[in-house]
Amino acid sequence: MTSYNKKSVEDIDVSGKKALVRCDFNVPMKDGVITSDKRIMAALTTINYLLQHGAAVILCSHLGRPKGEFKPEFSLAPVAERLSKVLERPVAMAKDVVGEDAKAKAAALRPGEVLMLENVRFEPGETKNDETLAKAFAALADIYVNDAFGSAHRAHSSTAGVAAYLPAVCGFLIQKEITVMGKALADPKRPFVAILGGAKVSDKIGVINNLLEKVDTLIIGGGMSYTFMKAQGHSIGNSLCEEDKLDLAREMLEKAKAKGVNLLLPVDNRAGDKFDANCAVQLVNSDDIPDGWMGMDIGPVSEELFCNAIKGAGTVVWNGPMGVFEFDQFAQGTLKVAAAVAESGAVSIIGGGDSAAAVTKLGFGDKMTHISTGGGASLEFLEGKDLPGIAALNDQ
Ligand code: ADP
Ligand code: MG
Repeated sequence: MTSYNKKSVEDIDVSGKKALVRCDFNVPMKDGVITSDKRIMAALTTINYLLQHGAAVILCSHLGRPKGEFKPEFSLAPVAERLSKVLERPVAMAKDVVGEDAKAKAAALRPGEVLMLENVRFEPGETKNDETLAKAFAALADIYVNDAFGSAHRAHSSTAGVAAYLPAVCGFLIQKEITVMGKALADPKRPFVAILGGAKVSDKIGVINNLLEKVDTLIIGGGMSYTFMKAQGHSIGNSLCEEDKLDLAREMLEKAKAKGVNLLLPVDNRAGDKFDANCAVQLVNSDDIPDGWMGMDIGPVSEELFCNAIKGAGTVVWNGPMGVFEFDQFAQGTLKVAAAVAESGAVSIIGGGDSAAAVTKLGFGDKMTHISTGGGASLEFLEGKDLPGIAALNDQ
């Protein structure tokens, strides 16, 4: 496993330097208009730090999937415009990524000035981690700053390759991700409780496997719990099930036993007669879900069981909602668990896109120690994998 002791912008002299900053400006857009500027706002701390410390800032990011060619609908120009408003200073927009216009504008850039390169995925080499492209990025700047945690699990030219050719450090967003999550995995305050849910066992099997090595208690809820129930020979009605993961589920149950991990599965569920927000609902026992019904949320007895385990935790890592929280009648389990995590006083870490959305939607966003900004990246982190965009940065 890589060291997560990476140099940050605070560990090097940035004054008078041109800093190439890889951000995550992959913002949601509708008809050319940015519908949420959360990611732009999140990038401000690092950008402002660099500007205040005398650097010139060259920003780059991907946006959508333009597949290696210039497509105007994927231009970062609207992001540059929005950023300019919130920074209250001009943000120059390059017409290309590492072409003549970008080179000329980068060369002319002075301390305190900001330049935005075009969408890095307009370059066909980006997603192939092309070396020539990585060198072209490096040629624009004196230092490289990675602050795009959401792309850190990708080995691309602007996320990893470029780091080989410049002093390479992390920005404040990545720094927080790796210190909070890194510490939770390497040296957690105990008891360490992991809560895993969401739709599929197959998405989370790596996380379950890695966390079983580390946690004291593992709570499994959500759509993936039914595969575990079926693996133990129970009837699960029409609930989600991955038939080809039954053996793996049994293996994980065995591993939990062998490691002495307290593994908690739901004992009751709210079940619906179809996958619909307005379906009929009944409470069922998790080990005997009637035919024609599907488990859509954990039930009240499970809520209490799970919340009691969360109450005394020193560290909680949570990935995956307890039920179909998008439907109001199946949001209760996720709500109760979110409240318990918020009240526990534990170091609380939320990983995963839908989990972050659920916690925020239910009003507990500011009660958590850390909500990871990277869905896929946080999963790979929790799996114990090396993230190429972080591994490539300079160690402290
Ligand atoms: P994350 O993005 O946090 O990693 P996932 O993508 O794995 O989480 O899972 C989130 C999805 O799982 C949600 O859309 C939710 O509706 C779904 N889900 C949770 N419980 C169930 C269930 N019992 N049946 C079907 N889908 C479920
Ligand atoms: Mg998801």
